[in-house]
Amino acid sequence: MENCIFCKIVAGQLPASKVYEDDDMIVFKDIRPIAKIHLLAVPKQHFKLLSELNEERRALVGRMLEKIASNAPAFGLSEGYRLIINQGEEAGQSVPHLHIHILGGQKLGWE
Ligand SMILES: [Zn+2]
Repeated sequence: MENCIFCKIVAGQLPASKVYEDDDMIVFKDIRPIAKIHLLAVPKQHFKLLSELNEERRALVGRMLEKIASNAPAFGLSEGYRLIINQGEEAGQSVPHLHIHILGGQKLGWE
């Protein structure tokens, strides 16, 4: 989608510290980390909200979760990690392209 920062990263038009890529998604380091390890998993297909899931996107998000789990050790997250999906502006979704925050590398608080 035009003017979407994550679509531009997917297309290679903007730089990112990529740590993983496959046909479904890319994973790169968040530029404003809130944990020692803070990655973003971004589907290559543009959509904003989980409420926009259809059969294809449901399968896509499922594969993303599986691959995050199987690659967690490679991401340095053998001891555990947290996934966050912000939905909508009030929740802090700053980019209108679905993305999964992957946090870890330290003991995470809960507040
Ligand atoms: Zn996009």
